[in-house]
Amino acid sequence: MLFRLASGQQNGVGDSMRHITTALIALGGACAAFFAMPAGPAKADLTPEEITEGRKYVVNNAIFILFHEGGHMLVSELGLPVLGREEDAVDGLSSVMLLESEDEELRAAMQDAADGWFLIDANNAQGVQEADFQGTHGLNKQRAYALVCMMSGKDPEYFKAFIDSLEFPQDRREECIAEYEQTRDSWWGVLDPYVDDTKTSNFTVSYEPAGDDLQYVEDMLKEGQVLEAISATFGEGYNIPDGIKVTAKTCGVINAFWDPAAREITFCYEFAAHHADLVSQYFEENRAPSSSDGEPQAQAEVKRGMVSALKAAASDP
Ligand SMILES: [Zn+2]
Repeated sequence: MLFRLASGQQNGVGDSMRHITTALIALGGACAAFFAMPAGPAKADLTPEEITEGRKYVVNNAIFILFHEGGHMLVSELGLPVLGREEDAVDGLSSVMLLESEDEELRAAMQDAADGWFLIDANNAQGVQEADFQGTHGLNKQRAYALVCMMSGKDPEYFKAFIDSLEFPQDRREECIAEYEQTRDSWWGVLDPYVDDTKTSNFTVSYEPAGDDLQYVEDMLKEGQVLEAISATFGEGYNIPDGIKVTAKTCGVINAFWDPAAREITFCYEFAAHHADLVSQYFEENRAPSSSDGEPQAQAEVKRGMVSALKAAASDP
């Protein structure tokens, strides 16, 4: 029942990438990108390596989020008990599935997902608001560190460079070993009655036309086969009734959600575009160590986490 994504599926730099207003773009084989910088529009080129890493980053964050939504789907479809906040619980399921796959690329996906929440936090210009405390989700940075805890608990040696780069405290590393096991065993325990290796459920996967502005995101997600990954993972081996829909579309908001009435997981193209914007901005801000004005002030821990993730990904063949 564990997720397996064919190696290499998600890391090709396609030659069909196109688009103008955001990053991760190749024009006619040449790499070019435009960024919306805080001071106004600016243009920058992404290196081929940055495009490769950026595409992986966007796809990996989509995978993590879709596994999270898959968790909501399981809770809803199977009537699973949830002790504590469901949003935290399904982040835990997504983490366990990615980590238990023991797949190098999915381990990299965990790092990208943690960096994803760090970058979203770092780019939240107005800071944490009362509504963030009132909301259904944990704070972005809490979600990031919860993933770090899962990685640390699963394999502290493998993720050591990443975890060290975040200065994750030693006492937490020790606690996270048991926290990871508890998360994994709890999920496996509640899912166990529904595991049926002979069962295949029919899921309907669809990438709705994104429209011009987001076409590059649709292409990226299709190439990464992210919806198919969700369908293959949850559609095989669980006793789930047929008819679950897994849809990517332009929604008008940066979001992803499970709709129990429609029995549909939706991933909004805007979410991936947001990740693309953030990682492009990250590359831009971290490339030149300040040429003229006082630029370097982005959160240091974000940079360290991201840099470490990129290094780790780069050293993995
Ligand atoms: Zn959720």
